[in-house]
Amino acid sequence: MRTLVKTKCLLDCTGSDPIPGGWFVYENGVILSAGRPEELGEPEGIGETLDFSDCYVLPGLIDSHVHLGLSHIDTIEPMPPTKQMAQPAQTKILKAVMYLRQHLDAGVTTVRGMGEEHFIDIHLARAVEDGYIEGPRIIPAGNVITATHGHGQTGFNAADGVEGVRLACRQNLAQGAELLKIFVTGGVVSGRGGLHFSTYTLDEIRTAAEEAAALGKYAAAHVHGGPGLDMCVDAGIRSLEHASMATDAQIEKILRADCWVTGTFSPAFHPQGVHSLTPEQEERLAAAKEKFLETFTKLVRLGANLSFGTDGVHGALAFEAITIAQCGASKKQAILYLTREAARACRRENVIGTITPGKYADFIALTHNPLENLENLTKIKAVYLAGVRKRGENKVLPA
Ligand SMILES: [Zn+2]
Repeated sequence: MRTLVKTKCLLDCTGSDPIPGGWFVYENGVILSAGRPEELGEPEGIGETLDFSDCYVLPGLIDSHVHLGLSHIDTIEPMPPTKQMAQPAQTKILKAVMYLRQHLDAGVTTVRGMGEEHFIDIHLARAVEDGYIEGPRIIPAGNVITATHGHGQTGFNAADGVEGVRLACRQNLAQGAELLKIFVTGGVVSGRGGLHFSTYTLDEIRTAAEEAAALGKYAAAHVHGGPGLDMCVDAGIRSLEHASMATDAQIEKILRADCWVTGTFSPAFHPQGVHSLTPEQEERLAAAKEKFLETFTKLVRLGANLSFGTDGVHGALAFEAITIAQCGASKKQAILYLTREAARACRRENVIGTITPGKYADFIALTHNPLENLENLTKIKAVYLAGVRKRGENKVLPA
């Protein structure tokens, strides 16, 4: 059946101006036409009309960096991330079902998994696709690839040396990973390594990039700064996760190599981000936060390839937009980072990220204009995934 969607204002997120009274038509979950009613003419063969003439409609949001096996906002059984990561696969899968709902509630129709255990994101991706559970579509990286002494090490997943890394990469690819995620430096709260120290060598990092490329895929790296960041760029890693400690010279290098950087403000900045820290961790976090904002202010100004993710603060994607706007991005650009640019970051720009013909009818309806205030991204009236209503009341006009 062919569906016509009427809006108060269509934000197609192509970069063009908003279209007051814009329309779009979709069929079998795919957009057929979109734009100004006067240009489109009378659409033919419409079976139903969705009346969002009181709403701002834009593409479903894309969270470029999630971990479905852990949550910083789980109030049912709060525990530190490392403890959550060490939980059995069954427990993590069941919790993830709730986290996926939290993403849908927040208008997120695609998430990119950035490292799990037990390949849970791959299993979850299939379960969503087959309709067993409700959630955004998932682009899975499979299991965390990290050294014995690396960040994100839980005892399940040590991969050391070129051959060890190669095996871990191939195990992920065999299971169905759509990208690979390697952990190069330590994290903000991790006791292992540090933000400036690499637990992998150039050869090990290059192996991940090569194994991904050999199957037409790409590798992403958890990396904050130090020599590890240079090695990632040199090794051909496409997506740098965090990159919070990048120096000016490294930013130049990132731009030259046309790498992507994924910002993840939520764990450090959101009121419900990381908590229960030791005094030493608190100190490290405070120093990192300052530098984090400084780095992203530069990346925005220089026009780097950027997208954003909530990294365990499920459903906080609007907060990412608000924070990047504080780093100098316009409100329009902040929204593009969560839509068009995120689709490019995920290499899915052919199917998601804008409301244009040929793409999935993933869209959200907001009661207020997000271009006036980014907090309006949370005022969600409805969420549609491939043309199917996932949240909100039925807005079909009576025939
Ligand atoms: Zn992460």
